[in-house]
Amino acid sequence: MVKVSIKRSGCISCGNCWSVCPKVFEQNKEDTHSQIRKDYRIKNAADKGEVPESIKCVKTAEEQCPVHVISVK
Ligand code: SF4
Repeated sequence: MVKVSIKRSGCISCGNCWSVCPKVFEQNKEDTHSQIRKDYRIKNAADKGEVPESIKCVKTAEEQCPVHVISVK
């Protein structure tokens, strides 16, 4: 499994992560920032998740985030 986190307060809502990796990322309707989809959250936290290694797009999302607030480990 791969750990994904988003520093949501720094997100500028550009939309790239949920475009390139919609399985894992989505836009929060209230604050417009990116969040982890429910299926992959750790303890239901919007900013922390765990995804199978087979979902490669999380890495692409990390690399392409213009403000570098996505971290994948
Ligand atoms: S790519 Fe980065 S700045 Fe853009 S919506 Fe996703 S987390 Fe926010």
